[in-house]
Amino acid sequence: MDAALGPPEKMAEQAEDLTPMMSQYYELCRRYDDSLVLFQVGDFYEAFCEAAERVARLCEITLTKREDSTGEYAMAGVPIDNAESYVETLLDAGYRVAVADQVEDPDEVSGVVERAVTRVITPGTLTEDELLKSPDNNYAAALATDGRRYGLALLDVSTGDFYATSAADVDTIADEADRFAPAEAIVGPNVDDAGVFGPECQVSPYDEAVFDREAAGERVRAYFGDPETLLADDVEVRACGALLEYAEYTRGGGAGTSDEIAEGEDGRLEYLNHLTRYDPREYMLLDAVALDSLEVFERRSVRGHEGRTLVDTVDETACALGRRQLSDWLRRPLVDEERIQRRHGAVGELVRDVRTRERLHGLLADVYDVERLISRVARGRANARDLRSLAASLSVVPDVREALSGAESDLLADLHETIDPLTEVREEIEAAIREDPPPEVTEGDVIRRGYDETLDDLRETERSGKSWIEDLEAQERERTGVDSLKVGHNSVHGYYIEVTDPNLDRVPDDYQRRQTLKNSERFYTPELKEREEEILRAESAADDLEYELFREVRDAVAAESERVQALADRLATLDALVAFAEVAANHDYCRPTVGADGFDVEAGRHPVVERTEASFVPNGTEMDRERFLAVITGPNMSGKSTYMRQVALLCVLAQAGSFVPARSAALPIVDRVFTRVGASDDIAGGRSTFMIEMDELSDILHGATGDSLILLDEVGRGTSTADGLAIARAVTEYVHDEVGAYTLFATHHHDLTETAADLPGAVNLHFETRRVDGDVVFEHSVAEGAAAASYGVEVASMAGVPDAVVERSRDLLDGGGADAGTHEDVGVGANGHAPAGVDGSDGTGAATNGADGDAATSLEQWTDAAAGDEGGRDDGAVTADDPVRERLRELDVATMTPLEAMNALAELKDRTED
Ligand code: ADP
Repeated sequence: MDAALGPPEKMAEQAEDLTPMMSQYYELCRRYDDSLVLFQVGDFYEAFCEAAERVARLCEITLTKREDSTGEYAMAGVPIDNAESYVETLLDAGYRVAVADQVEDPDEVSGVVERAVTRVITPGTLTEDELLKSPDNNYAAALATDGRRYGLALLDVSTGDFYATSAADVDTIADEADRFAPAEAIVGPNVDDAGVFGPECQVSPYDEAVFDREAAGERVRAYFGDPETLLADDVEVRACGALLEYAEYTRGGGAGTSDEIAEGEDGRLEYLNHLTRYDPREYMLLDAVALDSLEVFERRSVRGHEGRTLVDTVDETACALGRRQLSDWLRRPLVDEERIQRRHGAVGELVRDVRTRERLHGLLADVYDVERLISRVARGRANARDLRSLAASLSVVPDVREALSGAESDLLADLHETIDPLTEVREEIEAAIREDPPPEVTEGDVIRRGYDETLDDLRETERSGKSWIEDLEAQERERTGVDSLKVGHNSVHGYYIEVTDPNLDRVPDDYQRRQTLKNSERFYTPELKEREEEILRAESAADDLEYELFREVRDAVAAESERVQALADRLATLDALVAFAEVAANHDYCRPTVGADGFDVEAGRHPVVERTEASFVPNGTEMDRERFLAVITGPNMSGKSTYMRQVALLCVLAQAGSFVPARSAALPIVDRVFTRVGASDDIAGGRSTFMIEMDELSDILHGATGDSLILLDEVGRGTSTADGLAIARAVTEYVHDEVGAYTLFATHHHDLTETAADLPGAVNLHFETRRVDGDVVFEHSVAEGAAAASYGVEVASMAGVPDAVVERSRDLLDGGGADAGTHEDVGVGANGHAPAGVDGSDGTGAATNGADGDAATSLEQWTDAAAGDEGGRDDGAVTADDPVRERLRELDVATMTPLEAMNALAELKDRTED
């Protein structure tokens, strides 16, 4: 975050003379100098001077002025009632926002109202539901180093999830950071964080002192106990301690706010009571590249299938707790066979026992986001509704336990054993809090009748006073004989008796004038006044007492945070298991055998594509220690990359604890999935596609082990064919000879099939195509052996490319001068005059196509997709007789004015319409 502001210069110059309010503002800006201070003035949060200018510009609100004895200040304010949307804008622009609230009642103080920062809102420490939006985790990270090792801490303050790890090399740390995708990171002294955090993450250096080993260790101890036993390395202690301090800092710390912020004596956030230290090797490693290309959490925009990601596809969870758990399992698939089996055992039991599964699913649907609720409770930010939601969630727990009572699998039996219904907590809330309380907690209607005698007495006084007043109208009409007499209430004058002017002569002596209106007078009587005061006293005392009682209940619940969190954790696990079982049952998944010495998959399916494709063609996979590398050929759109991802996704699902989409599956336990799939230009990073490709390749070749799974989709595309082929060949040989990882390599380089044929551990696979009535139909089924070298030419021929060109291509393929190769090689063949249709950049073939095949993709789709995928790449492949292309080649885009460009475009369009 480089958007820090500091206190306004203009104020600094006359700091001594500022008015009391502005001096408060100035002081807070100084204290929170890395944040933008929003300063409460009545119903608005205001910013002044430079800050006002920025807020006005970013939030698109009017910049106004404030004048006082010391001068004129720019001012911009946002209404408190919907401040969230403005805060969001400021966070997006890279600011931390320090919210300075009035912490005294303006009616009760003379002079300027005290203000204090009650929270500092930052992207990684959000707790407001309005800002969090999704139930997914939202992490802040801290990164520390001692020059030797790196320590990484990750904390979601909205749920209390807290992790720590460390490694000697920064790449491992970067991979771990990728998994959790923190929204924000603070870094300690001497840390080179380049490349550790993704572009979405706001990174800023933070106070060095809090990264100090001693200070950080003390802080960790205050929360969790002995740092030496909890954590594995000093750098972990540093990172954890610093992150805790940062979390405390964002809770604010102004005077007078202790009521709002339930901190321990020393400012501790009491609900943080669990820290998980882990070793990266305990999980299958899925780095950002792999998560992205496998579309685990987010869809790639470049290419792919409508809509869904892996997590969406298997997310049948019933509550937010389960959703987060399931995401975490997919983010960190296990490598420990026993732990995987435990999950599979539980899923298997839930697949078989339909009634229990459905019952649990129904029960869990009534569970609210208990983790966020309890963290709000513990931070003193929960209202009465939150407590009721917590109680409602707890009320299903006995039934959940009951549903699990016959559980046989280890994990379910454990859950049955350890799920704690927290009956006292639920009963306390239900006894104290009304069923449908208002969101405010200071204005009554929160505490149930019968909970507290004093409160009931006060409410009774209030009620009987009001009913006396209700009867007053009839009584006074009778006494005065004035039928139009009315008893009313307004907020300024309170209760009154209203008599219209013509009847004023009938007003009794004890009536005292309160207010004169146009056609009537309003009165009160001493008794009415007395009653009114009694009502008001009782009401205000009752409201105060309710608030006090509410806080007592809230504190009592907060004291049980740890148990509530443990329960939430178990419900989350259960929900995720039920979801896996639900998916397995509804979509015909099987329980995989894990820990096999290779792949033996029968009729495997891609979990996401099978849902979108009307008829998905299953494919098997067989690999073992002797035969571990497959070179896959076949035309574009025949299903190569779907197949490769399918294999990886089966591993991810199985190791996350899920069943897998296949008839049967034996799978190895994979330590890491590497992907080098497709080309996504890192334009912002200023690197070329080829450079990225080589970068990823280098990571793979350095990082892969015999237990890794490598997916390579077309290596060496970004360079010349000869170069690309050479690299592809060398990579294949290296992986085969030196790495021994399970490898799937999809390629256009037909020559690579020869390399594969020569290597004992390698095998050729290809995707088949068929001709149906002049259309190429993709069967999407994988088969042994290499694809025919000439399939590109076949396609070109059917696309209507002139016979002479097709013939010449066949000649060349048969050894007439060029390397034997695929259609791609033809496109950049010896003479540089390949047919336009071949590289897909000319769509003329589309018109000749007939109806689509059902399960398969027609040629029309193939040519379209090819045009999008590869168009314009081979600039050697230009037919000389195409005037539009000739003209395009002549244009020098870099030097054209917009007008010239428009004219050129119009001219080109004319030519095509000729
Ligand atoms: P390639 O990598 O060979 O270019 P893709 O794997 O991208 O091909 O697949 C192209 C399209 O074919 C996909 O978008 C998908 O809709 C469809 N497809 C792929 N595999 C199958 C399959 N096994 N069954 C049915 N359709 C498939």
